Amino acid sequence: MANVITIDIGASKIRFMTVSEKKEMTEYLDTPPVNLIGRKLNNEELSQLLTDNISRSIDDMKKEGNVVSAVSIGSPGPLDPIKGVIQNPPNLRGLKDLAIVDELKKIFNMPVFLLNDADAALLGEWWLLDHKRYKNIIYLTLSTGVGSGEVKNSQLKTGSELGHKPLAIEGEERTCSCREQNHVEAYLGTKGLAEIYSKIFKLKSSNLEPERQHLTSRKMRKGVASLDPKWLAVQETYAKYLAIFLKDVATKFRPELIILGGGIIFGNESLLAKTKEELAKIAPQEITKIELAQSGNNVNLGAAKYALEQLEG
Ligand SMILES: [Zn+2]
Repeated sequence: MANVITIDIGASKIRFMTVSEKKEMTEYLDTPPVNLIGRKLNNEELSQLLTDNISRSIDDMKKEGNVVSAVSIGSPGPLDPIKGVIQNPPNLRGLKDLAIVDELKKIFNMPVFLLNDADAALLGEWWLLDHKRYKNIIYLTLSTGVGSGEVKNSQLKTGSELGHKPLAIEGEERTCSCREQNHVEAYLGTKGLAEIYSKIFKLKSSNLEPERQHLTSRKMRKGVASLDPKWLAVQETYAKYLAIFLKDVATKFRPELIILGGGIIFGNESLLAKTKEELAKIAPQEITKIELAQSGNNVNLGAAKYALEQLEG
């Protein structure tokens, strides 16, 4: 049985998980996620952090008589999956052209894979739900960054990066993490949500510090659950922006299914319902099926799936 050590590099934390060949994920180790809030990683620090945790996972697997077959990493883009290089992700500013695959291959002497985190999440969802009945799927992650993955004619297409495409919101101006104006991520990423919150609650800009932005989505869920009118307004505004984006995506790609994941919307039925309501106003006919992601570990799961396919192939 093949076992893959998978790593989900996020802007706020890194999650390690060992996944077995079977469909069910097996967590052999109790590895707590590494928190990155308020921390600026550079190439050396990230390499060290990954190396230490992979070593520990391999040792723990050995103790149980298990062999690790590969390491597979899902990371925010831009990245080069062929060369195995993490280029310069706007939400991980300290990193630059990190040849992580070669480094880890040398140290651990086993296959190492790197793929875009949204692509990994999409593969994970596909694996879990047997989405083979769908040939065309778009996956969107709404988190610190806005990532995207696309399956077209049952094939994963890499490098779609829809988060860094323009989104036209009347009367608003936002600067994106990549420093360009009015990208999708500037409205629908964690900072975008924090800006809506800040505006509706008339807050000072201190609430937009990166350390506090990631709390907004949890606060919104609580506020909406208790029917706080201001939080309902935050949810409505975000849903309006998201509906505009979804209409664009559905029109351009004509997917059979759009899956929404990431910290802002994962498990958030209320936000999904509001978004569908807003979408119905601007696109009277149902344009596509929209569902929430099924797994909070879909990046790890999809990275494993990718590695297992490569090992077989
Ligand atoms: Zn951008």
